[in-house]
Amino acid sequence: MKQFFSIPISRRDFVKITGMAAAGMAIEGGQLPKAAAQKASGLLGEENMPVLYDVDVCVVGGGPSGAAAAINAARKGAKTVLVERGVALGGLAVLGCVYPFMDTHAPDSDTPYVSEVKERLRQHGIEPYDGVTGQTWHNPETLALIYDEMCSEAGVEILYQAVLADTVKEGAKLKAVIVQTIAGLYAIKARTFVDATGDAYLARSAGVAYERGYEKTGHNQPLSFRFEMGGIDVERLYQYVAVELKEDWCKSKPPYFEIAEAMHRKQRYKLEELMAQGVASGELTQEEAEYMQGYTILGKNGVMSMNCPEIPVRFSATDPVSYSKAVTYGRRMMHHIAAYLIRHLPGFENAFISREAAMLGARESWRIRGKYYLVEDDYHNQSRFPDAVCRTAWFIDAHGEKISEKLPAGGFYEIPYRSLVTDEIKNLIVVGRAISASFILQASMRIQATCMSIGEAAGIAAAWGIAHKVDANELKWENLPQKERSYVSAG
Ligand SMILES: Cc1cc2nc3c(=O)[nH]c(=O)nc-3n(C[C@H](O)[C@H](O)[C@H](O)COP(=O)(O)OP(=O)(O)OC[C@H]3O[C@@H](n4cnc5c(N)ncnc54)[C@H](O)[C@@H]3O)c2cc1C
Repeated sequence: MKQFFSIPISRRDFVKITGMAAAGMAIEGGQLPKAAAQKASGLLGEENMPVLYDVDVCVVGGGPSGAAAAINAARKGAKTVLVERGVALGGLAVLGCVYPFMDTHAPDSDTPYVSEVKERLRQHGIEPYDGVTGQTWHNPETLALIYDEMCSEAGVEILYQAVLADTVKEGAKLKAVIVQTIAGLYAIKARTFVDATGDAYLARSAGVAYERGYEKTGHNQPLSFRFEMGGIDVERLYQYVAVELKEDWCKSKPPYFEIAEAMHRKQRYKLEELMAQGVASGELTQEEAEYMQGYTILGKNGVMSMNCPEIPVRFSATDPVSYSKAVTYGRRMMHHIAAYLIRHLPGFENAFISREAAMLGARESWRIRGKYYLVEDDYHNQSRFPDAVCRTAWFIDAHGEKISEKLPAGGFYEIPYRSLVTDEIKNLIVVGRAISASFILQASMRIQATCMSIGEAAGIAAAWGIAHKVDANELKWENLPQKERSYVSAG
């Protein structure tokens, strides 16, 4: 079979996909293969490949979870390299314009690393708490600087503009990853690997079982193409939305101010009518009007981070062609929404698009099937685990499927270390939004603070395993001395 990707589609998957296409189901929206395993391609091999680094820990992906993993592994004495395809750490929080860190809604959920990031924001002149909502307002450029500083202090080698292309395996262990850098292809050897790509790319290429999308519909969560708008008169906006329209959704006041509307939610937002008028007048499509949200950004006067457009689910986060079409489609939606707000929303008269995200916002793409598979019951039962690495309680927020569920106040569930490791590969830990969880459970655990805490534990575990000669997938988090652990189960 012809291989279009560095990770080949297995013959079984190929038959499934083409079979679905023959049955008239578009790959964009169809039921995609579940828990399929792919073989490490070895396409690029390792022979004759120059070795750029030979380290203890190699983390791929510098988002909230990957930066945390690398910094914590290095702090525990592991020689660590962090591979990132962009030119800033922070992942969706920086490159994807995703802002702010949502409140986990779990009491005392901040692990030491999460508290430290917030404290470092303060040291950079940003007070992340508005005193009302519990979410962490920050500034993406400052966050990128903080991550660089933390990596530098911890001794993490960051390899920017480097894309993971392939993996090299020996039995059930990964030997190296192959990365495409600005100078060409290189191997990076390591004793333990951390997959923080968000897309489980490393794990999939190493042959780990995975799934994607919602088992009932085959859809991924919708992609968004986030952007920022500058030139906004925030005081005028506040007067209009909070005072004249009496919108009480946003409890805080400028400089912490948020506007929102979401037609699929039960909550009726005051700005829904304005967006509906845009549909009636033909200035907006229904898809563009469905969801609009904006947050002020600290330290960027007159700038708001726009949590839209939300791209329809017929565009897939796991199909490269569909994904590319989503970029073009989403950019057009972005410009329509911006133009409409400039014409009709008081405070936006002189506004403009000041920045578009450097990566599409994928809420969910591929998820591994690890030693423990977290499911919706774990959420409702508020599961506790002896090997828990953190706690969270963000609501089940499955955009697209329009599923939204909350725990009672004070409730939370825990995430076990076993959801980060697999049977197939001994020296691999998977972190962030791609851990072993069902579509519905992932819709809760994917928020940034939780991803950071997961990465933090993974970094500690990776360094500990190397120091004590325990494979990452055999390591028992609960057996680490309590003072070494970033989180100890409440169970
Ligand atoms: C539209 C949208 C809105 C959201 N809103 C919020 C919110 O308001 N608050 C909140 O807390 N969370 C929010 N989230 C969720 C949250 O941002 C993500 O779930 C979280 O960032 C995931 O972290 P991560 O580390 O797993 O991956 P990511 O943030 O996706 O980072 C992955 C990193 O890996 C890199 N990478 C990927 N592949 C490769 C490769 N092959 N080689 C090298 N590098 C690679 C990427 O460049 C990126 O830097 C939102 C998500 C989306 C999409």
